Amino acid sequence: MNRKRAVTLLVCVLGVAGLFFADDGGEEEMGEPIQVWSVEQGAMISTTKVEKSDDEWKQELSPEVYKIVRRKGTEMACSGAYWKNDREGVYRCVACGTDLFVSTTKYTSSTGWPSFFEPAHEANVGTERDTSLFMTRTEVHCERCGAHLGHVFDDGPKPTGKRYCINSRALEFVEMEVK
Ligand code: FE
Repeated sequence: MNRKRAVTLLVCVLGVAGLFFADDGGEEEMGEPIQVWSVEQGAMISTTKVEKSDDEWKQELSPEVYKIVRRKGTEMACSGAYWKNDREGVYRCVACGTDLFVSTTKYTSSTGWPSFFEPAHEANVGTERDTSLFMTRTEVHCERCGAHLGHVFDDGPKPTGKRYCINSRALEFVEMEVK
């Protein structure tokens, strides 16, 4: 085999290998780094933000959950699974699993939505001014994936005076012992 043919062959082999081993550019795309609090570990953990297209969220979430967490919807009062839940544990983001609220900060608000006086950690839950529906409210979202959770109001109990009014459908409760 002359040198030219050998080089041509090598280029072909590498090209075919490339077809098999090429990055599909899909699901495991890494978002920007973020540190969030893990209730189970009692420590901050390093992870990455979850960035997905609207189509990907639509495929992953049920229509009613999608409407709430990606379209800032609100479930009917008293229609969710957790407004009366008084078990001990952690409420995680339904879309990405981040710890959002802990049962020790949940209280009975009689609104029909799960209510907490503070989030599991300020790094895990973000807020933003919301002027929709002719009102000025403070919207609450998962800091890691951007899922809309509900709103926070200033009529909560001590010690914070805050009422995090959260959609059950934005949460996934995991029973566990918490401090
Ligand atoms: Fe999330």
